[in-house]
Amino acid sequence: MGLFKSVFNKVKEGLAKTRAQFTGGLRTILTGQQLSIELLDELERRMIQSDIGVKTSIELRKDIQAAWERGEMESGDQALVFLKEQLSAYWPQENRKLNLLPPGQGPTVILVCGINGAGKTTSIAKMAKSLHDEGKTVMLAACDTFRAAAVEQLEIWSKRLGIEVIKGKQGGDPAAVAFDAANAALARGVDVLIVDTAGRLHTQDHLMRQLTKIKNVLGKKIEGAPHEVILVLDATTGQNAVNQAKIFAESTEVTGLFLSKLDGTAKGGIVVAIRETLNIPVKFIGVGETPDDVEPFVPEKFVEAMFAI
Ligand code: GDP
Repeated sequence: MGLFKSVFNKVKEGLAKTRAQFTGGLRTILTGQQLSIELLDELERRMIQSDIGVKTSIELRKDIQAAWERGEMESGDQALVFLKEQLSAYWPQENRKLNLLPPGQGPTVILVCGINGAGKTTSIAKMAKSLHDEGKTVMLAACDTFRAAAVEQLEIWSKRLGIEVIKGKQGGDPAAVAFDAANAALARGVDVLIVDTAGRLHTQDHLMRQLTKIKNVLGKKIEGAPHEVILVLDATTGQNAVNQAKIFAESTEVTGLFLSKLDGTAKGGIVVAIRETLNIPVKFIGVGETPDDVEPFVPEKFVEAMFAI
């Protein structure tokens, strides 16, 4: 799989809360039981209570009930296996890798957006480190000129990682920083330029206009840029994160999601709800606060971790 070496245990640890409050509960009610209408009602209720999404919960229940009525499924254990299979198959073979240009043809530009507090800065550090560890040269652009703290945070990470950050004046035009960063990335011949953007402006219109301006500036300087638009969503906010994703996706083309803070929540089912609502691939999951706490999203592994003992 190349990029982002995957460690099952990290995903498993990251989903401990989800398991404790949600999937572990499903396992408990199903294991060793015979299927019945009451059990199916309980299963559906629990799935809806989690952040798995109403439509998916109802569909899964219907499918299990139909198999049970046809005599193809009798026990809760069989239902559990079925649930895992169905959930794993829920994500088609969509492209979940970063869309990187071939070596020497870069820079690949990754624009990162999301609201303040979603985990944008940390997620940028994670992507930067993973790419850096893969031997790619990385540069960061601090286009969130509104928050001094965001720029400082990026600088702290970049110093630790030995990665250059292009920044501008506080309160200055973010598109001007994008312009400088694009020039610098071309001049230095870096492989990947990761562009941080502001997460809160007075109005959503303003925010989206600014994103468009940054995108246009990047596109004029570097052909095809931005090649990826990654939206960072805070998994702990559950359904709210889904709503945010909808709003961003309506205004700008989002090519992938970075779901942060999965370790801090029992709402791991949100990954399913996102799939139910939006046709945007989850590319990464954040499972902790350090730059190493990132995993590619691999459905089978994710579902296995959700239901692990
Ligand atoms: P930003 O405002 O969107 O740039 O968010 P930050 O990157 O500053 O993150 C906000 C808070 O969330 C910080 O305390 C981070 O350490 C924390 N955070 C970010 N990602 C994760 C994650 O995957 N897991 C955990 N537990 N905390 C995270």
